[in-house]
Amino acid sequence: MSHKPSWTFIIFVPDQAASLAHMIVHWRWAVLATFETTTDSSGCRFQRLKEAASGYLAVRDHVPVGYTRRDVSDAQRRRLLELIDATDEDWRDWHWQLAHRLDNISILAEILEMESRQQSEIAALTEVLHWAVPPYFAALLDPVAENDPLRLQTLPSMAETSDQRGVSDPMAEQNCSPCPLVVRRYPDRLIVKVTNICAMYCRYCQRRCLAGTLERQAGRDEMEEALGYIYANPEIRDVLITGGDPLTLADETLAWLLGRLDAIPHVEIKRIGTRLPVTLPQRITGDLCQILRAHHPVYLNTQFNHPLEITLESAEACRRLADAGIVLGNQSVLLRGVNDDPFVMRRLLHELLKLRVRPYYLFQAKPVLGTYHFATTIDKGLEIMADLRGRTSGLAIPSYVVNMPGGFGKVPLLPEYIVAKTASSYFLRTWEGRTVEVTNGPPEPNTVGVDKCNTCI
Ligand code: SF4
Repeated sequence: MSHKPSWTFIIFVPDQAASLAHMIVHWRWAVLATFETTTDSSGCRFQRLKEAASGYLAVRDHVPVGYTRRDVSDAQRRRLLELIDATDEDWRDWHWQLAHRLDNISILAEILEMESRQQSEIAALTEVLHWAVPPYFAALLDPVAENDPLRLQTLPSMAETSDQRGVSDPMAEQNCSPCPLVVRRYPDRLIVKVTNICAMYCRYCQRRCLAGTLERQAGRDEMEEALGYIYANPEIRDVLITGGDPLTLADETLAWLLGRLDAIPHVEIKRIGTRLPVTLPQRITGDLCQILRAHHPVYLNTQFNHPLEITLESAEACRRLADAGIVLGNQSVLLRGVNDDPFVMRRLLHELLKLRVRPYYLFQAKPVLGTYHFATTIDKGLEIMADLRGRTSGLAIPSYVVNMPGGFGKVPLLPEYIVAKTASSYFLRTWEGRTVEVTNGPPEPNTVGVDKCNTCI
């Protein structure tokens, strides 16, 4: 390959917008890097970038997305309406969906091809495990493929009872609870678990021990106790309302709770953790959006794990929330057989951005008793993260986190970008695998100058 001219630049980044004089004083050194020219007649750099995109583009359209499988889910929906003897109007009503969750194999066996072995297993597991799926989400399940990513998340399997690895409360929530409903692991924030009810009981759930018990929403007296704790601890500025799924609460209860939190002066933001935009998007009604809008700032984190969960309905739910000014984030769980593939993950993240949902976390699955068949290695998570960086915009990239046992909080993990370090320099690996030296502090004046391109030699 031909040798191309290139330059070494020092880039200065302003700390803040200000007058020029102020900026000159406060500019700080940011990056010293070697750039190859992009004006080379061979177009070498651009060609490399195109090649870097080509692997994903070749397979992108083979990664199924919910809205592209509409004909299948529509047929399943019609079949379910017949079997349950219900109407389209019922289908659109979240109360109806919640009240008609499927929690035994009889109706599902009518719409899904299943070996009799699997049917018998699920029937037996129903005696000992709590599982349920709203008709809406059941219609998304692949009617044929046993290893469908949505089936895997929905239907119980024998591995849940045969594998005894793990613990029932991996984050030691019971030990991190200063009062009923509250779990506190960090200095300035806490969670309030207002219910143990979910629309769907995801088979990998970290709180599956709660789902195994009687479905129950917290009473107002318990919520008052939690509010009292928050009130008495002025360092709490961020309250996450979770469960179970807090959006299974009635509108009136949610409005009351958000209003009570607004009345606590030191609570700056409220967050809601809910999977209902995914599993029961009918819940995101105009009335609900009005309630949330009335209590800003409200942040809502949901959990899409696979592009197949992005349907016209879930997209509409996200649109309504975003239009109501709710800041939307997504927390996926890395699940073997579901989304442990770099291209599936990338498609999911791109689809989320189209819905105005910012990828927030990618969780390493926790060591929950009965869920080890979903576990991946941390190596796999890092491989996915390494594949994303540089190949897609930072806006699409979640933080990959591992929750520490014992309630010690999240640890973010990154692929190794620091190759070596001296007192004066860091040697950093770029997304393309090059090692570049950057100085550890302001560069020496004579470091600005011409350097050689190391791309093509
Ligand atoms: S919606 Fe969330 S809390 Fe409920 S079962 Fe699924 S993962 Fe668990």
